[in-house]
Amino acid sequence: MNKFINLREGKFPIILNLDIAYLKDSIDFADLQSGHTSLLIAKLTEDLFSCKGEIAINFQDRCQSCLKDTPVHLTIDSNVIIKDSDILLEDEEKPDETHFQKLKFFEIEKLILEEISLNFPSLIRCKDQNCLKLEDAFVEEKIQPFKKIRDLLD
Ligand SMILES: [Zn+2]
Repeated sequence: MNKFINLREGKFPIILNLDIAYLKDSIDFADLQSGHTSLLIAKLTEDLFSCKGEIAINFQDRCQSCLKDTPVHLTIDSNVIIKDSDILLEDEEKPDETHFQKLKFFEIEKLILEEISLNFPSLIRCKDQNCLKLEDAFVEEKIQPFKKIRDLLD
């Protein structure tokens, strides 16, 4: 796809039900298998737009506990404010949910990729029962050093 949307002119709202499997090559931190969006871009003011909806992706990753490959499903509830990157704003603090782009040449891919990387899980776990047991043991081991330090302090 990768075509520009001119937010300065189009009709609103813009509904984007996209198959985003083609973003596979643009995501280097995950092995994307499939994905879709149901997003809606609405115009709030002349320079302010909102993008709300859902981005759902399936990818393949490695369980950080047992190191087995595991499928992961991620659903992101997006609620993003879009501002023009040409007008770099009086307000210094940029809240995370604000996305900056040229409104005349808006690329929804950039927003989707940003949302995926911001919401990407920091912990990947498989659903294997045996793996969960392993995790309990791991947690116990982790707590132990603190207990030892506390014992020393007492
Ligand atoms: Zn596992």
